[in-house]
Amino acid sequence: MEVSCSKCNGSAAVYLPYGDENLCKKHFAESLEKRVRRTVREFRMIEKGDSIGVAVSGGKDSVSMLYLLKDICDSMRVPLVALSVDEGIKGYREGTLKIAAENCRKLGVEHKILSFKKETGITVDEIAKKDERMRTCSYCGVFRRWILNKAAREMGLSKLAVGHNLDDAAQTVLMNFLRNEPFRLARFGPSGGVIGHELFVDRIKPLIRIPEREVAVYSIIKKMNIRFGRCPYAHEAFRNEVRVFLNDTEEKFPGTKFRVFNSFMSVRDALGGKFNTDETPMRCKECGELSSKEVCMRCHMLKELR
Ligand code: SF4
Ligand code: ZN
Repeated sequence: MEVSCSKCNGSAAVYLPYGDENLCKKHFAESLEKRVRRTVREFRMIEKGDSIGVAVSGGKDSVSMLYLLKDICDSMRVPLVALSVDEGIKGYREGTLKIAAENCRKLGVEHKILSFKKETGITVDEIAKKDERMRTCSYCGVFRRWILNKAAREMGLSKLAVGHNLDDAAQTVLMNFLRNEPFRLARFGPSGGVIGHELFVDRIKPLIRIPEREVAVYSIIKKMNIRFGRCPYAHEAFRNEVRVFLNDTEEKFPGTKFRVFNSFMSVRDALGGKFNTDETPMRCKECGELSSKEVCMRCHMLKELR
């Protein structure tokens, strides 16, 4: 028997177990767009006078976020530009960069590509060859954040949007508790980082309340050109364990991922009060970027690799 949409007579395309709701394609897309707008408003992610950078990798999360933010920014007359990072991953990144560029062209969004080789002198392929401790993703993450922050600031952008979804957020929260590293969570959240520092471009996460599965469905319904592949170096074993656990638990107890995220949000201020120090961040003596120590993580890691 065909199930009909909870909001109209159309046939349902998506079931949202946590809300016990069936939605047709149109009403599902509207519901997701509304929820993203609400998140953006609630955390004042985009305001008049902002200029927004969107980190676009070419995957479903970042491309969906680009479509959603283009709409929101246009309605607020806020400028938007897309930034992609070429880490130098042969056989993988060329394809995703092409997709990012195609989507930007389609939407009429300016697109800038930043390169690992140019900004740090090393590619992820080269890091992977040197790296014996299987920490490629750690290097990659630190270098990418450094490159994006510097580029966004130099371009005069006031915020940088990253495509983290609810699954990413719930995994991060749980991983930090399981590792007994709550201090790392003190700066985590819908918008985050060293807010208000002239060298730091605030990060915003407009998809933080949207489950990964729904972002994927949205990108398919909207017929977006995206890439579903995986980076060959993606082997974060611990995160994978947590992902599987959360997915299993979500299936048995719908709404689990929301509850993990909401629990974190309700203790977030307390964590901030306990672990955020009043120390003023300084400039790295090697590169001049923002750092909590004399030498920033990017420069420290570059030395390690040499
Ligand atoms: Fe970089 Fe790891 Fe992501 Fe690949 S999976 S792009 S190496 S962080
Ligand atoms: Zn540095």
